[in-house]
Amino acid sequence: MLLNKVFRAGLQSGIRLQSSGAAAASAASSSPAGSLGYSFELTDQQKEFQQLARKFAREEMIPVAPAYDRSGEYPFPIIKKAWELGLVNGHIPQEYGGMGLPIFDSCLITEELAYACTGMQTAIEANSLGQMPVILAGNEAQKKKYLGRLTEEPLMCAYCVTEPGAGSDVAGIKTRAVKSGDEYVINGQKMWITNGGKANWYFLLARTDPDPKCPASKAFTGFIVEADTPGVQIGRKELNMGQRCSDTRGITFEDVRVPKENVLIGEGAGFKIAMGAFDNTRPPVAAGATGLAQRALDEATNYALERKTFGRPIAEHQAVSFLLAEMAMKVELARMAYQRSAWERDQGRRNTYYASIAKAFAGDIANQVASDAVQIFGGNGFNSDYPVEKLMRDAKIYQIYEGTAQIQRLIIAREHLGKFKK
Ligand SMILES: Cc1cc2nc3c(=O)[nH]c(=O)nc-3n(C[C@H](O)[C@H](O)[C@H](O)COP(=O)(O)OP(=O)(O)OC[C@H]3O[C@@H](n4cnc5c(N)ncnc54)[C@H](O)[C@@H]3O)c2cc1C
Repeated sequence: MLLNKVFRAGLQSGIRLQSSGAAAASAASSSPAGSLGYSFELTDQQKEFQQLARKFAREEMIPVAPAYDRSGEYPFPIIKKAWELGLVNGHIPQEYGGMGLPIFDSCLITEELAYACTGMQTAIEANSLGQMPVILAGNEAQKKKYLGRLTEEPLMCAYCVTEPGAGSDVAGIKTRAVKSGDEYVINGQKMWITNGGKANWYFLLARTDPDPKCPASKAFTGFIVEADTPGVQIGRKELNMGQRCSDTRGITFEDVRVPKENVLIGEGAGFKIAMGAFDNTRPPVAAGATGLAQRALDEATNYALERKTFGRPIAEHQAVSFLLAEMAMKVELARMAYQRSAWERDQGRRNTYYASIAKAFAGDIANQVASDAVQIFGGNGFNSDYPVEKLMRDAKIYQIYEGTAQIQRLIIAREHLGKFKK
């Protein structure tokens, strides 16, 4: 329980730690939102989370972010400090040593960390993605063992679904798991796995029913796989356009034996588990994109107030000030979108529609706003001595991972049209 103790110290205020549902209920009842309906006022506790994450992001992350971007080194010292302060694994329920934060509160933290460096924030967020299937579908023993481990030590986990031949089309994955006595034998190849080379364990999706006619809802099974199991072969760290200190790898599974105790729910339940995680993890991804966009806006604004052309700060040229206004509009709306999607989930409601709107919108605007920031910086914007070039490279992935911009639109259209169909 080091995490809780240190987190209390970090906040210097003995905030009450609570399980997910209780926290949501308490947050709702202690805020105007609980009594009056809509409210944009954060609770005192949420403000404290936000302030702690903001201070950590600005004091510890921003100064070292350019160096990690250049070296591509995994930012473990930062992750360890964030873990000690309780800024990692926020979703893990209290009974397994975590804080059981509502999605909304975790998103506030994510936005702040992303403001500093989305490479580091993605490495941290990948833990949430890897652990979410276990939080949602794990039995008591699995939760105790695998979630508990992450709260006892600063360990990473990963979500192993995408393959070289199938990303958007998850049902097209080829990794096979075959039952052999009390074990399953797994063979296949995964690709683009965040924390792939750093994880202590993986959530892995594999096909268990070879019949091509078997529907996706029954053909796949979700497993927890210890990373040090014989036959797990970790590929090289990929050299990506942005978020370069995040660890992305291909992983080959060759005759990897996994005990049947590590199956989540049961054979055939995997597809729903793997996809269900996204309702909880897309709001934080959108929050990350919003944090990046806010940073781009702030950097561009400060620069526009200092840089002079034709005898005055460029912020006084209407073309530049209107560009800043457009950027501000987008950041504000992205924030509202991720907060709405997180809040819906915390109320226990199906939030698929809102989560995809938030993810698609925030991902798109992060790219637009970062590109506009580069524009405002002029030639300096194109140079790596200034911060906005990194922001533009880092932003692109928000339109790709956790479901591309196109896949989000497919989901939004399906959800929207579904309301009209009789
Ligand atoms: C840095 C990074 C980290 C990642 N981390 C993880 C991770 O931790 N775990 C994990 O499992 N995966 C991870 N991924 C994988 C990521 O989720 C996939 O790359 C993504 O879902 C897209 O799949 P794909 O690359 O196979 O592209 P494809 O599915 O081949 O898509 C290619 C293009 O076609 C478009 N497209 C595809 N189908 C349709 C359609 N039906 N209609 C319209 N357009 C369509 C897509 O939008 C895209 O523009 C990561 C990827 C990257 C790059």
